[in-house]
Amino acid sequence: MLTVEEALERVLANSSAKMAARIPLCDALGLVLGEDVSADLDSPPYDKSMVDGYAVRSADLPGGSGELALLEEIMAGMTPSRPVEAETCSRIMTGAPIPRGADAVVMQEMTASAAGDPNRIRIRDERLRAGQNIVRQGVAMRRGEVVLRAGRIIRPAEIGLLAEVGRPEISAIPAARVAALSTGNELVSPADHPAAGQIRNSNGPMLVAAARQTGATAVDLGVARDERESLQAKLAEGLQNDVLVVSGGVSTGILDLAPATLAELGVREVFHKIRMKPGKPLWFGVKEHTAERRTLVFGLPGNPVSSFVCFELFVKPALAKLAGRDPKIVHDLITARLTSDFSHRGDRPTYHPAVVECLNQTAGPSVRPLRWAGSADLRGLADANALAIFPAGDFSYRAGEPVQALLLN
Ligand code: AMP
Ligand code: MG
Repeated sequence: MLTVEEALERVLANSSAKMAARIPLCDALGLVLGEDVSADLDSPPYDKSMVDGYAVRSADLPGGSGELALLEEIMAGMTPSRPVEAETCSRIMTGAPIPRGADAVVMQEMTASAAGDPNRIRIRDERLRAGQNIVRQGVAMRRGEVVLRAGRIIRPAEIGLLAEVGRPEISAIPAARVAALSTGNELVSPADHPAAGQIRNSNGPMLVAAARQTGATAVDLGVARDERESLQAKLAEGLQNDVLVVSGGVSTGILDLAPATLAELGVREVFHKIRMKPGKPLWFGVKEHTAERRTLVFGLPGNPVSSFVCFELFVKPALAKLAGRDPKIVHDLITARLTSDFSHRGDRPTYHPAVVECLNQTAGPSVRPLRWAGSADLRGLADANALAIFPAGDFSYRAGEPVQALLLN
């Protein structure tokens, strides 16, 4: 059986970034930029005022004081019509272009109209100096300069910058498309009351949500019954996507038909079963549609916590790689001290739902393994914000001992 690390290596070896495509800027949040982007204009495009006030020649105001004749009012969106000459000034609003001749802007608050004459402005600004309150053309970026490199993750600030440099459309790596299929004769919809022997399908909604949380688009294909025809039709539909996540039907039960049915559909098995708990029955394969197009298929064990942990450990890094992100920084692994004694026994490394807290800086983070009834216990998982990782073997840990934990977001 593969270790977690070996299995992840094989998943990533079979994953590659999708081809960049033209994407409207309004849909680009969270995607990875597929091209270098240069400024098409200087920014700011002209010398502009940072405040509401008066554009002046500092030489006219020794010690920052004097009285100047008002030439005009320049609002944002206008261009000045007159140069500022000796003993004159122009009223100017934030963002408006600085008129020729002026070398400083005095804030409104340091000025007053001369008594009886609104066109004469009295100024008193003891700290006046040339250049004050003016942002010079091109200080943020010069026309032609590369302002964003390919590979950059597009956050709101990048969206703003791309808008500023005139890019309503960009090249970016599109979101991966994920389909989630749940399998099992026992499954009913969350809207239904289970009859004897039935349970609600919790994996479908959970896996769709987990995929969406990574920025992928995801569809829920609902439930396939444990029989070849039902499975074949739904799996074939799922194979139209970049990633197909199947839950259930991958163990060794009589009706665990997923691997065989996937093989019939031309999905090549890469591995089956890994050394971890929960999640041992994990199945992974690849369907090559063409040289450029493939679908990654994850057969996740049906127990909800197993499905969740396998998604977290294997599907998430694959989705990061498809989206052009670095799969190595998907997981936040920390070392934290146990809050109480804890015994763990098992022949496989175990991912145990836990709460990580950082109550004081000097002690660092603590980890409290939760009461957890095993791989079907979603309630225990829902209370967790981390998975404490215990290596294989029988161990009795003491409170305060350090253990590794994977933070869940
Ligand atoms: P399987 O992997 O199909 O053998 O399923 C293992 C366990 O997980 C069984 O108890 C199933 O009833 C349960 N299970 C399978 N699929 C789901 C699902 N979509 N939602 C909740 N539980 C499931
Ligand atoms: Mg099943």
